[in-house]
Amino acid sequence: MAPKDQRIAPDHACDHALGMDEAITRRDFLNGVSIAAGAAGGLLPRFAAPGLAAAAAPQDAPGYYPPALTGLRGSHPGSFEAAHALRDGDFWSHAGKIVDTRETYDLVVVGGGISGLAAAHFYRAKRPDARILVLDNHDDFGGHAKRNEFAVGGRLELMNGGTLLIDSPRPYSTVADGLLKALGIDPIALSRKCSRNDFYPSLGLTRGVFLDRETFGADHLIVMTDGVRWAQRLAQTPLSPQVKSDIARIEEAAIDYLPGLSSAEKKTRLAGMSYRDYLLNVVKADPGVIAFYQARTHGEWGVGIDAVSALDVWAFHFPGFAGLDLKAGAAPHTGYTAAGYAEGGGSYTFHFPDGNASIARLLVRDLVADSVPGHSAEDVVTARIDYSRLDRPASAVRLRLGSTVVCARNVGDPTSPVGVEVVYSRGGELNSVRAQFCVLACWNMMIPYLCPELPERQKQALRYAVKTPLIYVSVALRNWRPFKALGVSSVYAPGSYFSTLSLNQVVDIGDYRSPRSPDEPMLVRMVRTPCQPGLSEREQNRVGQVDIFNTSFETYERNIRAELARILGPGGFDPARDITAITVNRWPHGYAYEYNQLFDPEWPEGQQPHVIGRARIGSIAIANSDAGAAAYTDSAIDQANRAVEELLQS
Ligand SMILES: Cc1cc2nc3c(=O)[nH]c(=O)nc-3n(C[C@H](O)[C@H](O)[C@H](O)COP(=O)(O)OP(=O)(O)OC[C@H]3O[C@@H](n4cnc5c(N)ncnc54)[C@H](O)[C@@H]3O)c2cc1C
Repeated sequence: MAPKDQRIAPDHACDHALGMDEAITRRDFLNGVSIAAGAAGGLLPRFAAPGLAAAAAPQDAPGYYPPALTGLRGSHPGSFEAAHALRDGDFWSHAGKIVDTRETYDLVVVGGGISGLAAAHFYRAKRPDARILVLDNHDDFGGHAKRNEFAVGGRLELMNGGTLLIDSPRPYSTVADGLLKALGIDPIALSRKCSRNDFYPSLGLTRGVFLDRETFGADHLIVMTDGVRWAQRLAQTPLSPQVKSDIARIEEAAIDYLPGLSSAEKKTRLAGMSYRDYLLNVVKADPGVIAFYQARTHGEWGVGIDAVSALDVWAFHFPGFAGLDLKAGAAPHTGYTAAGYAEGGGSYTFHFPDGNASIARLLVRDLVADSVPGHSAEDVVTARIDYSRLDRPASAVRLRLGSTVVCARNVGDPTSPVGVEVVYSRGGELNSVRAQFCVLACWNMMIPYLCPELPERQKQALRYAVKTPLIYVSVALRNWRPFKALGVSSVYAPGSYFSTLSLNQVVDIGDYRSPRSPDEPMLVRMVRTPCQPGLSEREQNRVGQVDIFNTSFETYERNIRAELARILGPGGFDPARDITAITVNRWPHGYAYEYNQLFDPEWPEGQQPHVIGRARIGSIAIANSDAGAAAYTDSAIDQANRAVEELLQS
């Protein structure tokens, strides 16, 4: 089943008006495969056959610099084919001979995201002379913490390709906070010094809500001007009088919709129903309000209000709870409190201009010292990494990109192994390395395919979680005058292909300066969550993963252009003239799965699938934020530390 198809169909005249034929910075793709590559050698096989490898690894070539690539990024073409073939069971029948590199390490880490890089850091902290190899299937390190870099109008502009904020529903642990400090990151201090969150409000820009004609009857932008009552905001919209009145009631009235219950009893009731059901069955709102709120949860949860509990959204200050008099305290699922973020680490307000890619870059600087110039958390932002230094034989730590691990096995009896053998696919060749230990910091659902020796119960547990799919698009614009003209800095578009768009947030750090004048070039973030309302969260995630796999760059580009034209057109925006570059970061395997009380059973402590799944087997330990069932950077770090400790204590 595919998600509701909101895509714009190709049409020659419309495409021309949208600028689909403009020579902007993006590569041309056909269903995710580079047309240039396809033309040269026919469309690529599902994974490259042995013998097609270039002699030298791409990352060693002069000028190799993936953060500046545009087009399809995130799970980019070439990064997932071997893994999918392994999943489908036809990898080994096509695979060539395994070439033994004769390389030996103390530790091999699978996955070069925050968790894998942190695992290398923690291991070296305990074993300073250790030799470590980090393998990652992408052409860049960082995992979800990826950097999108643009040269627009002669200046550097940055955006996060995935992981953005140093925040978490829980205070950062001593371990996670300690790692940030060791890397020179003090989020609270950096927030004070570098974040300029008041900049857009200081220009009078606010949030907007875009109602599209297909969902609501007519295109209309609501500008959420402060101090204006909802009745007035909604007056000119195409919504029915009842829907307008009910939205105003939900937003403004302090009504106790659950009279006679204590706060604790109310919370229990709210935890067991979706926000959609709360609005329909408890608030008794007209069903027409649902489309207005449906996508409000997309950014945080990756699914709509049908699949998120009313208690979880209460903690995020969603409307409709003001009269319930709920006592402060965490919502059990998110851990967030209605009072916001707990003290003790992290920060809501600070993020690097490239998000947590800067944390990954600082970790790489720590591991492979001369690959990342500079000395501070501020100068790393504009540092140009020398990728050719990441995998040199003389280095104690080596970082090998474009390398999909297809097997990790204990050598000898897993109860008393004599080491680990790790096999990876790179450029069509299969190579093996040996190590004393291995940390699998990769996506946990892939581990059963890598480690056939795991007990069946553990494999089942690892397969339980289905990661949340997301699309983060970075669009470079010639200027942002249309935003200024319309009075908005971000727009929520509940019925549209992309459910949010926002101007890049303003951060000045080190030598990096965010644009200030609406006449300057600007990056815009657009987010799509390809979910399928009505299914369980895990089923919605599966549907969305297929949707991402089947959507071409061309389709994304057409929808980006059309949506921006419809929302910003009244402010003077012309997609053919104003768009200069597009990067589509696809994350079919995005957020770690967090249990959802609407769909998942309540397991006894220690019996949750992620706990059973992450058990060490011989000399192999399991990390990644998946192993904490929490889609946050602190979880990625904590799980790395646990995995390393398990190995060193064995
Ligand atoms: C779009 C998006 C936005 C997010 N925003 C935030 C945020 O604002 N704040 C926050 O705290 N968290 C955020 N997260 C959550 C994020 O997942 C974590 O914070 C953290 O970055 C996860 O790190 P990780 O190392 O555990 O996993 P990943 O970053 O997923 O790294 C794992 C790496 O292992 C690789 N790998 C998998 N299989 C193999 C294999 N067989 N061989 C080799 N390599 C393999 C993967 O490709 C990947 O590169 C976001 C996630 C996404 C997708």
